[in-house]
Amino acid sequence: MRGTLAALGLAVMMAGAAAGASKTLDIYFIDTEGGQATLLVSPSGETFMIDVGFAGLDTPNPDKDVGRDAARIAGVAKIAKVTRIDTVLATHFHGDHAGGIAHLTERLPVRTLVDHGPATQDAPTMKQKAGEYSEDWAAAFAKGQHKVVTPGDTIAVKGLNVTVVEALGKPIERAGEPNPNCSSIQKRADGNPEDTASVGVVVQYGRFRFANFGDLPWNQEILLLCPNNRVGGIDVYEAAGHGREPTPAASAMAPRVAVLDNAAPQKRDGGRRRQSARRVHRELRGHRQHDARGALPEGVSERRRLLHGVQLAHERDEDLPCEASRHPVIHWR
Ligand SMILES: [Zn+2]
Repeated sequence: MRGTLAALGLAVMMAGAAAGASKTLDIYFIDTEGGQATLLVSPSGETFMIDVGFAGLDTPNPDKDVGRDAARIAGVAKIAKVTRIDTVLATHFHGDHAGGIAHLTERLPVRTLVDHGPATQDAPTMKQKAGEYSEDWAAAFAKGQHKVVTPGDTIAVKGLNVTVVEALGKPIERAGEPNPNCSSIQKRADGNPEDTASVGVVVQYGRFRFANFGDLPWNQEILLLCPNNRVGGIDVYEAAGHGREPTPAASAMAPRVAVLDNAAPQKRDGGRRRQSARRVHRELRGHRQHDARGALPEGVSERRRLLHGVQLAHERDEDLPCEASRHPVIHWR
């Protein structure tokens, strides 16, 4: 049989599960139509948000459909019964990850903002200049605390261990296990400065491990995972760069579930969703175990499907059901 699952559009859950102290870590992958906004609700009740989606419709159109993603985040927060975001991590300062901060802080209080330091790249639609923070981010810092992290740092989220494994193009210094998938990998053209600067984190809850590397480019993924795998094994992997082609080295993380943030509307997508799901599937399958829909990893439960947004890739490359489900959640005991 051909591999098994790959990129999983997850499942979801529901209302009842979140908030306040509970025994579960809940991860909500909020559909921002090609951006990223992932809400983790710790068993302690603390909230950790990785990126905040777009300001408006998308990066070139921040003034259309203004506040769309912040409204979706606020909607999910309501479902999760959380009333504030304790920590927001901006993986990097591009519009699809960081554009929505002003709208978010209008809707929900944010206690601490974490990033890699000032922008490394101009972003006119965010009124952002290299070497500075945009006005929206500077204003957000004034409402809460601000921390800059480097590889090896931890981010304080009660009930979870959050470790920075990558930032500003540099991986964490730790030994790791030799990675057998490194020998034939070729470097490629460097990515743009902000993607390269992406903050990558591993979130650990008990034996469960979740990884998110923002839009970390190909060459930095090699530095992080070769010759030794400095990340270790991962249960749920929110695939770097919206499901760009993973390096062969990534299979050493052996994620049981991969989530792709690439739910652009079909008309603007040109089939990329399907292609990227195939690529992630091809690279990550066959190592350890991949689970198909209906056979989620032990301890991950599906409670409810809500609208559309994440992607499900199945056993057969020819048959990739594109699940339309907004605001999926992984529920981990
Ligand atoms: Zn991106």
